[in-house]
Amino acid sequence: MTATPSQHTDAEAATGPDASSSRPTGRRVLLAAPRGYCAGVDRAVIAVEQALEQYGAPVYVRHEIVHNKYVVQTLEKKGAIFVEETSEVPEGEIVIFSAHGVAPAVHQEAERGRLATIDATCPLVTKVHKEAVRYAREDYDILLIGHEGHEEVIGTSGEAPEHITLVDGPDDVKNVEVKDPDRVVWLSQTTLSVDETMETVDALKGRYPNLLSPPSDDICYATQNRQTAIKKVAADADLVLVVGSRNSSNSVRLVETALGAGARDGHLVDNAGEIDESWLDGVETVGVSSGASVPEVLVDEVLEWLAQRGWDHVELVQPVEEHMRFSLPKELRRDLRAEAAAKLTR
Ligand code: SF4
Repeated sequence: MTATPSQHTDAEAATGPDASSSRPTGRRVLLAAPRGYCAGVDRAVIAVEQALEQYGAPVYVRHEIVHNKYVVQTLEKKGAIFVEETSEVPEGEIVIFSAHGVAPAVHQEAERGRLATIDATCPLVTKVHKEAVRYAREDYDILLIGHEGHEEVIGTSGEAPEHITLVDGPDDVKNVEVKDPDRVVWLSQTTLSVDETMETVDALKGRYPNLLSPPSDDICYATQNRQTAIKKVAADADLVLVVGSRNSSNSVRLVETALGAGARDGHLVDNAGEIDESWLDGVETVGVSSGASVPEVLVDEVLEWLAQRGWDHVELVQPVEEHMRFSLPKELRRDLRAEAAAKLTR
């Protein structure tokens, strides 16, 4: 963790009795780990920064590169222009596709507009796209568990619209219709609640006993790890604060998971400025985590805000370690390599 000067970690507290005796009895923060940036978000943000450096501003980005206001505003200041549709990008310019992935139709539209594209789709989303293409080719009905209107779901559905039916949670299972009940497979959005998704799968299996499962988990490692960590924190927390934006699916799921795992109260905040002092009434233990699209500086600000109010004792709760990294999008790697080679021959 990055502890601010007024905070101390559990390890530091153990070095001197004075450190903990100054805080109001029982007040502590349980800081979940892993939290914050996942490998896919890290890669997408670095891709925009590198593109700005490599090609110069402006660089266009279709949709929010990741679902976090702070990240988007920071990149805008550096020269990124965020657009809703590829058609808004002037001919010949560079457009970057966000980590959530896009449908093939968006690639085709970019080609028609003679745009240079950099695809920052997370490789774990691409994996789900490939599964959808494969099962559609084998003529399966694909039941895609996910949230209606989410960009990732729109992108995945666009791979095989005639074969994919969206299932938005267990209550939606009764509405599903398929061509052949013995040729059905389920896939999912990468950022769902693991528990709720399994509920949906069980309900689907009740209707389709021969339902096929994807070859490996579609809910990504980062979503799963953050949910595992927040569950452990929530079991001992009176209040859980999750840093993240409201349109970030995995951040919203973290609050739900915390409440489901025993936290008395839980809130999603974009930053420390959104915390309501009254939430702390009667609270001793505050759990803190952040969504996969949240930079650590925003968590540090929340920890500082809590420290100023007496919650300056921070204990790290890390049930899982995480070491995943992804290489940059291939278009960028190609151009960076070409530039490095040109410099050598100069
Ligand atoms: Fe990739 Fe998971 Fe991060 Fe989404 S949350 S960008 S799928 S690693």
